[in-house]
Amino acid sequence: MGEIVFQNTLSGRKEAFTPLHAGDVRMYTCGPTVYDFAHIGNFRTFVFQDVLRRFLRARGFRVRQVMNLTDVDDRIIQNAAAAGAGIREYTDRYIQAFLEDMRLLHLEMPETLARATDHIDDMAALVAQLLENGFAYRSDGSIYFRIARFPCYGALSKMDFSGIQAGARVDVDRYEKDDARDFALWKEHKPGEHFWETRIGPGRPGWHLECSTMALKYLGPTLDFHTGGVDLVFPHHENEIAQSEAATGQPFVRYWLHAEHLLVNGEKMSKSAGNFYTLRDLFARGHRPSAIRFLLASVPYRRQLNFTFEGLEQAASSVERLRNFAARLREARLADSGAPDSGAPFAPRIVEAEARFEAGLEDDLNTAQALAAVFDLVREINTAIDRGEFAAADAAAALAFLGRFDAIFAVLGGDDLETLRALGYAESGAPLADDDVAARVRERREARQRRDFEAADRIRRELAERGIILEDLKDGTVRWKRT
Ligand code: AMP
Ligand code: ZN
Repeated sequence: MGEIVFQNTLSGRKEAFTPLHAGDVRMYTCGPTVYDFAHIGNFRTFVFQDVLRRFLRARGFRVRQVMNLTDVDDRIIQNAAAAGAGIREYTDRYIQAFLEDMRLLHLEMPETLARATDHIDDMAALVAQLLENGFAYRSDGSIYFRIARFPCYGALSKMDFSGIQAGARVDVDRYEKDDARDFALWKEHKPGEHFWETRIGPGRPGWHLECSTMALKYLGPTLDFHTGGVDLVFPHHENEIAQSEAATGQPFVRYWLHAEHLLVNGEKMSKSAGNFYTLRDLFARGHRPSAIRFLLASVPYRRQLNFTFEGLEQAASSVERLRNFAARLREARLADSGAPDSGAPFAPRIVEAEARFEAGLEDDLNTAQALAAVFDLVREINTAIDRGEFAAADAAAALAFLGRFDAIFAVLGGDDLETLRALGYAESGAPLADDDVAARVRERREARQRRDFEAADRIRRELAERGIILEDLKDGTVRWKRT
């Protein structure tokens, strides 16, 4: 396999990837602000991060990924107060929803998932250190980072902030480049607002502080990767670099990877613009997680992705096509025609397709190229099967390649109907796809084999409810039809 390169936001160039510690990847991912359901724009970035970690794992790296859950910030405080709830109670249900959404989208669980409010003392300790070494100062009950002390400020966002007035401050968590000033590490306690009593006094953390704190705590001073959407480059990641490097004196992140936005009608999908869909909005319209995941993964992360329902339908049929293809290969593998050994004429083509697939991913995760390699092969093999020119020996190799594809794209193995049903979306009127039925039939057979007749009967009943009738044939196989 070839060299892996990534476009690094910090250098502005593609760079060959080598981890700091051989075989070991340390990766930090800015997680969701849990003040509402995440929208599919957010999931575009989370799916990219999942593809990244799956790709690295497929290449044999041990990945240690930390993702934070922002459960305290300006917006959460406002929303929780408006709902008359404590911030912990308010954010609990959105964390729950986020975990369900992750499972449905087949996002692998990061090794560490950490809530900001579980790390208040760690954050206070980091601020205390910055106060001690002169990078932070107190003013009006809050504590600010002194950006004049940090000459590299602006290196990531490629901005020259050297002319800004020393001592000018900004108190909100999110602001534009024009408003770059000394930012709040720690915010003074305001009456009626949630606060924590800590070694640096009462108050609450600024948003940027949590990511530096958790990254340093769980991954050490220098990470291999830090990822997020492009909107986080400034001020969030610029501020993370300042806080972390001021504390450790070491480079914070080696490869900064930022996903371009998901757009609707040319505009960034966002809560504030009101132009967003949550996953649940799409499930309610009968769309499946696998189609959504495929769509989000199909456009390379450094390219903007314009969301349309037409694109989502196409993604669903691409997934269907791949699943049907897998089913045909499984059949072909079993079909032993008894003909003299015809060899494996497709073997070189499969090797070539796989090389193109890997080369695509190696090139800054070019998922479009990787998918093109897969679909070209699907077309060729389907034609060969139609003509009866496909050998069982090739089927095994093609299936193995599909397995390696799915270790990264994760769309072949049916949708999680249990969770969808629990959320009330499985019976949305969309008929079960043939592959979903086949998967359930397989599960039923396995249940019977381990003599779990209760589970087997439940599957039969569930399928019957969805208009699928099973017929057990004498030879032990099952025939099914739609009513
Ligand atoms: P937030 O919950 O706002 O902190 O965002 C969670 C993640 O989603 C961050 O990495 C953001 O950069 C990312 N994000 C927000 N909006 C979009 C969008 N429209 N397209 C892609 N990523 C986004
Ligand atoms: Zn962050």
